[in-house]
Order: sequence, then C-alpha cells, then structure tokens
Amino acid sequence: MTANANKRLIIVSNRLPIVITEEEGEWQISPGSGGLVTALAPVVKRHSGLWIGWPGCGEEAPIDELLDRFGREQGFQLRPIPLSEDVIEAYYSGFSNSTLWPLFHDLLGHCVFDQNTWETYREVNHLFGEKIATAAAPEDFIWVQDYQLLLAGEALRSIKTAQTLAFFLHIPFPSLDLFRRLPWKIEIIRALMAYDLIGFQTMRDRRNFVNAANALIPEVEVVTRQRHYTLMRYGQRTVKVGHFPISIDFGDFSEKAGTHEVADAAWYLHENLGGRQLILGVDRLDYTKGIPERFLAFERALEKYPELQETVSLVQVVVPSRTLVPDYQDLKEMLDQMAGRINSRFAVPSWTPIHYVYRSLEKLQLLAYYRTSEIALITPLRDGMNLVAKEYCACSIEEKGVLILSEFAGAADQMARGALMVNPYDIEGTADAIHQAFTMSGEERQRRMKLLRDDVRRNDVHHWVRRFIATMYGARL
Ligand code: UDP
Repeated sequence: MTANANKRLIIVSNRLPIVITEEEGEWQISPGSGGLVTALAPVVKRHSGLWIGWPGCGEEAPIDELLDRFGREQGFQLRPIPLSEDVIEAYYSGFSNSTLWPLFHDLLGHCVFDQNTWETYREVNHLFGEKIATAAAPEDFIWVQDYQLLLAGEALRSIKTAQTLAFFLHIPFPSLDLFRRLPWKIEIIRALMAYDLIGFQTMRDRRNFVNAANALIPEVEVVTRQRHYTLMRYGQRTVKVGHFPISIDFGDFSEKAGTHEVADAAWYLHENLGGRQLILGVDRLDYTKGIPERFLAFERALEKYPELQETVSLVQVVVPSRTLVPDYQDLKEMLDQMAGRINSRFAVPSWTPIHYVYRSLEKLQLLAYYRTSEIALITPLRDGMNLVAKEYCACSIEEKGVLILSEFAGAADQMARGALMVNPYDIEGTADAIHQAFTMSGEERQRRMKLLRDDVRRNDVHHWVRRFIATMYGARL
C-alpha cells in the first residue's frame, strides 16, 4: 500500500478533544488538554480530517452549533456521538473502567465481570461503527483510539469494508494467563483482527497480544516477525501488529519550563516548603498508580535514613478521577488516612513530611513542580506508558532532577538507563532508591538527566504519530 497525501484522516476516540462548559447561561467550548490532542490535532487539520467521539456533556448543550464553530476555528470537523448517562455508566464506568482497565493492568482483584455491561459496551462500539460508516468515504484512513473502542473496527467492517483501519491501545495488554479469564476474550481478539494495524505501547504488550491471538484463535497465524511489526494472517486478512511508545511534546514542555513565570513559581514553591529537597508524585487517582505503596516507601525511608527527616518533603498531587467508581472512592479515603498517619508520626512544627494535594493543577504550577523538584517518584504498579515521567524530564532544564521509576511503567523500556529503577511492591528497595537519589552527586544527576532528556527529545509525540502512520503505509502520509 502506498502513501497518499490526499487521504482524509478520521480519528475516533471515546471523548472528543474538547471541553464544553456552561457559565451563567453561556456555553463555552475549548480544546481538551493532553499530549494526544496536541499531537493529533495538527495532523487531522493537515488532512482536512474529522474527529468522532462522545462530546462529554449532556444533551442540553447546543452541541452542533458549538462543534461547528470550534471546527471552523481549528480547521477540522468534529462529529458527536451523544450517549445517555445510563449508557455511560455501563459502557464507560462499567465495562471499560471496571473490567478492561483493571484486567489489562494485571489487577484481577479489581475486576467486575458483568454480562450487562459487556452488552452495552458492544452496543456502544456498534454505534461508533455505524457513525464512522456514515461519515467515512471508502478511501479514508480511520484511526481508532484505546480500550473503550476495541470492537469499533469490526462493527465498521460489518457495514463497510473498504477503509484502512488502524487502532492504538494506550494501556497495557495483559499476559495470556490473565487475558484468558475474560469471558469475552475470543470476541475481543476476533474484533481486533478487523484492523489493518494494531499498535501497542511496548514490545511486551505486542508480544502478549500476538501470543493471545495465536493461542485463542486457531485460524490466526504469524506470517513474519520484523523489528517494527509482526505480520499476522486471519482468513483473508493480513494485520500488522507493532509497538509505538507514545510520548509528549518535548519542545513545548521544555520551552515553557524555561519561562520567567515558571522560574518565579518554582522559586516560590521551594521557599514555601522551607528550601528542602522536594520529592514529587503526580498521578490521577487510580489504584494502578501505586500511591499507597509509595507512601509506605517514603515512610520507610524516613525511618531507615533519619537524615531525610526535616530535609525532604514528598509533594503528592492526586488529580480526582472516576469518582463514581467505588474502588476509586475507597482509594481516596485510604490515601487521606495514610498521609494523616505518616504526617502525625514524623511532623515537627517547621516540617510536614507529606504535602498531599487532591486536585488538578494549573499548567504553570505543574511545570513549576516539575522544574524545581529534585526527585520524581513515579511508581505505578502497572502503566501503559506514564507521561508524567517524560514531562518531568522535559522540564528538568537545569538537569538536577533524579527520576525514580517503576519497572512496570511502559516508559521503563526507554528510561531505564537514566532513571533509578524500582519494583513498587518492594517497599525496602524503593526506600533505598529514595535515599540513593537524595545523596546522588550533582554530576551523576546531570549525567542521568541528560540521557533521559535526549531520549525524550528525539522520541517525542510528533515522532510517534509519524512512525505509526509510516508503518501503516510503509511511508509518511
Ligand atoms: N496532568 C494534568 N493535571 C494535573 C496533573 C497532571 O492534566 O493537575 C496531566 C499530566 O500533565 C499528564 C497526564 O495528566 O499529561 C497524566 O498522564 P499519564 O500518562 O502519566 O497517566 P494517565 O492519567 O494517562 O494514566
């Protein structure tokens, strides 16, 4: 297949890349945040493209008018798929976030298997397939995003078959042993084989998927294994399965981190915390992020290395997320209690060990924390990639930061040479890594951070988009 610069690109994701709000009766629409939107919006625009997804608001908003205006400003079209609250509850909070999310993150204990939520998930994916079919021409290139839409490609194929269809999974793909517990595993693998290209974050995820497809579907066979992708055959179809570690807009983070506004905010943060070394954690509220284990490791470090007492503080930012799912409510309560207990054990009037911030930060504040924290403690139990690790390095412009990173983050594959790697379940080992980071010389910090920054700079999110599309076509779009 050859590249065609005139092909139209259609991005399909659970959420449209927008935020709709209402203030005093006035509806507002603004661009969504996040690396994916930054990376894909210019590509969609260049190809006079289209973005399809749930608008994320109720039916009372004048959605068509808002999207029309926004689309004209941005240079691409948006097509909404409205979903009712009940449907969102079953498809999104239910099957996507209470079945697929924990299973794919190796946390079987959090999984709910429920026939009803599965059926709603299937229906919503079919609805997406129908909407794509109505919007797409046969020559379009359609790129579906993430675990909420595993079945959308197959749904589309059952209506129209001509388009080039690609899929990217932003979260991990589990081992066969775990995946086989899913009652609907066969349907999911068969549906994924409807795409022409399936992208994963890491080699491990790619291998897990190839193993699962081979083991569970007798008609699937591996044709060739190349460095960038494995070619599989399924009946008449051939499917490329590759790995493409997602990244950030390095230039944008690095440049913004160097502004006077960020420098001032960073200075203020350090002053405010008594000039001590700062250890930073930034996560959405999620049990995959290993925050309780991190608190225990920090507590152990204070106990084992008393020189850390009154000389470091852990700033843990937790961004509220999925607040309707009971497991997330329990986690929130647990974190409140743990931070309170550890603080009351060690605090003195002039020093608080853990600053626990439960809210999302303004971008300026976040960049200031990234730039000024001497240590980033990023210890997910499992993570598709972890963009915070890459953002921290991009903003560590003075090259004095140390990254402590879980070996179970997708980012570990690329960052192991520069970071201090830990097993987040190993509390003692993580406490030792905190101490090692604290006592690391300036030269060693700089050497490691240089390696990390060079890698993130070279492999930024624009590189990710180009490589994905090039793999699809064997050339750039
Ligand atoms: N982030 C944010 N607001 C905050 C703190 C963080 O929007 O107050 C962003 C952060 O910049 C990063 C994202 O949230 O881009 C988290 O991405 P990551 O891959 O680390 O984890 P995910 O939340 O996708 O599981």
